[in-house]
Amino acid sequence: MIRFAIVPLLLSLSFSMCKKHETVSPNPQPSATSSPTPDATTAGGSPGVPSVAASPKKKKPVVDQTAQVIIFCYHRLVDKVRYPGTEITPAAFEAQMKELKDRGITVISMQDLLAWKRGEKNIPPRCAVISFDDGWKSQYEVAWPILKKYGYPVTMFIYTEGVRGGALGGGEAITWEQLADMRDNGVDIEAHSATHQDLREGHNIMLASTGGKRTRAKLTGPQYEQWVQNEVVGCKQLLEQRLGIKVNCFAVPFGNYNEHVKELARNAGYEAMFTVYGQPITFTSAMDSIGRYAIEANKPKVFEDAVKMIGAPTSGGAPVAEVGAADLATQPADGETARTALPLIKANLSAIGQIEPGSVQMRVSGLGVVPATYDPKTGTISYQVTQKLREKSCSVFVTAKSQGKKVEAHWTFGIEESPARAVPTAAQTPKK
Ligand SMILES: [Zn+2]
Repeated sequence: MIRFAIVPLLLSLSFSMCKKHETVSPNPQPSATSSPTPDATTAGGSPGVPSVAASPKKKKPVVDQTAQVIIFCYHRLVDKVRYPGTEITPAAFEAQMKELKDRGITVISMQDLLAWKRGEKNIPPRCAVISFDDGWKSQYEVAWPILKKYGYPVTMFIYTEGVRGGALGGGEAITWEQLADMRDNGVDIEAHSATHQDLREGHNIMLASTGGKRTRAKLTGPQYEQWVQNEVVGCKQLLEQRLGIKVNCFAVPFGNYNEHVKELARNAGYEAMFTVYGQPITFTSAMDSIGRYAIEANKPKVFEDAVKMIGAPTSGGAPVAEVGAADLATQPADGETARTALPLIKANLSAIGQIEPGSVQMRVSGLGVVPATYDPKTGTISYQVTQKLREKSCSVFVTAKSQGKKVEAHWTFGIEESPARAVPTAAQTPKK
């Protein structure tokens, strides 16, 4: 299925201009970090796949495991772009926010993305998460009003010494008061280290004291451990204490990390770690290397490519209109758990409007296109499953043509056969 295709985008990464002080110039070499390892365990040990049968008392909702999410990472919004590596004009930013809306991509919060990954909350099939890095005042003054206009949630990745008043917080930096205001209005505030440097041992780093004195050093051994502890753990504690929040996300500066840094983050209680290797996030994406698309003024294609990655229509570029499953009175309902592996699947397509005869089609995960019956009088499409569904969840896709346009509805239900029927009988085993 096209939905599952993950084509890693080769992004040229932005390593420059993440700083509020010109004196900080880390070595901008690309990281040797490989693509996410599929077997990587999630921080906190939460299981990646929800087990429908695991807890008979409190069931997790059935989530759409085919959904995809793209995460955008922005820096500064300025009218005149001087550093195209991290800046974008407010107009370009707003145009992108509008494009997400126009393309039917739902902007969800980071916490909803994580809840979906834990199998606790469903999300629409195609989603985006907006994040801002570093903590610039233009994020508060310019970006936030635009986001509010669209009703989009946002996550701020803050490096604590870069907040106004910190050792690296200059005049363009966001203030703690602005962060508190954002927090009070539902903005998600997360960690991006203390001083925004390469966190791997053996790299030249800059040590800044609050007095303004700066020294360069290559820390190793216990000295390095103490330093990196503050970058990964201290930063989280400071944000949590200063703002009274819970921090569970860590955006690694420059995306440069290794197993040791990952382990520190996991032990510190981070649930997810983020890089800048943009790629669509799927249900099974590793939680310790979630890729984000860094959007820069000099690479407008990155945004377009990211949007296309999850917006690809299935048939030769013809526009597809999505219809909510709730409008179709589906049976089983979206998120419901069916008590049989042989359910009757039904939907009422009246809400779609005039449907072209012969254009109605139903697909069922694990079965493909099924010979469903469509009754034009009632607008009902139905199919009695005749071959036991094997998976614990089942996705149904109904498509039809209406006024020359392809319309699609898509929902997912769970399957949990009632114990009485699930008990295998001797009769089912013909021979010993
Ligand atoms: Zn940064």
